Amino acid sequence: MAIWNLGSINVDIVYAVPHILNAGETLSSTGRKVFLGGKGANMSVASARAGARVNHIGAVGHDGVWAADRLLEYGVDTRNIAVLDTDTAQAIIMVDPHGENAIVLHPGANIEIPQTVLQTAMAEAQTGDWIVLQNETNLQRTAANLGKKMGLKVAYAAAPFDADRVMAVLPYLDFLILNAVEAEQLHAATGQRPEDLPVRDVIVTLGADGADWYGPSEKQHFDAIPVDPVDTTGAGDTFTGYVLAGLDRGMVMEQAIGLATKASALMVTRHGTADVIPDLSEVTAFRP
Ligand code: ADP
Repeated sequence: MAIWNLGSINVDIVYAVPHILNAGETLSSTGRKVFLGGKGANMSVASARAGARVNHIGAVGHDGVWAADRLLEYGVDTRNIAVLDTDTAQAIIMVDPHGENAIVLHPGANIEIPQTVLQTAMAEAQTGDWIVLQNETNLQRTAANLGKKMGLKVAYAAAPFDADRVMAVLPYLDFLILNAVEAEQLHAATGQRPEDLPVRDVIVTLGADGADWYGPSEKQHFDAIPVDPVDTTGAGDTFTGYVLAGLDRGMVMEQAIGLATKASALMVTRHGTADVIPDLSEVTAFRP
């Protein structure tokens, strides 16, 4: 089967700074690096590295064609990434010597994805494929509705958290994934706990404490694999991408979560995001 990911594509520009800027201050950076980023792009790379057929649906500006090309290099089908007359999404990230950061996110093309791009992509989707959504793009509800009507399975990573958006797509979901903070935010906004939600499978990831799965009739905890983490960015996206790729290959949830737990543990031992998400052979060979 295949995974259709309506997802963000960001250009992450990381500036090393002596300290996080104060109001009114001008500061020279001591280094600058540019990476492919965005939760959507990270998830597409993770699922592709896990061996799934992944089609990314999204948009960049002319300045971000290289980012779409990078996704293609990483094994993602990029035919449904539109190039628009607008800016590519950008994250301007300041990192101080202690690893503390501050981020300005410019959503740009991510929130201007034309509906026609989604429709063209979906015309190729097949019953039983997955449609995957996060909160960094427009068109989530349209995609969830269309996907459900076509017999696709609908998966949603509720990040960055927005209660209204979660509630809008909830009726269409087969799979919901939240981290611990997002699960608390959902509870604060709606009074609902993961086990109360009308969604077949809900996963709450708990960082170094692993993950909880709330299935149709069971709840199961999965411990994380103990490692020495150096950079936890992209852990959740790697986990989600691997779970969905596993399910898409026909694994049962326990197996898919087992694979995702290994992949994300390996991921936190590496610096970086999309560029360093491990592939299936590395995950299989990983002996912590
Ligand atoms: P997010 O990045 O969305 O906040 P989490 O921090 O909950 O997500 O991490 C997702 C998954 O990555 C966890 O469920 C766990 O399996 C793995 N993980 C995260 N941090 C660690 C860690 N320090 N050691 C081992 N595994 C980790």
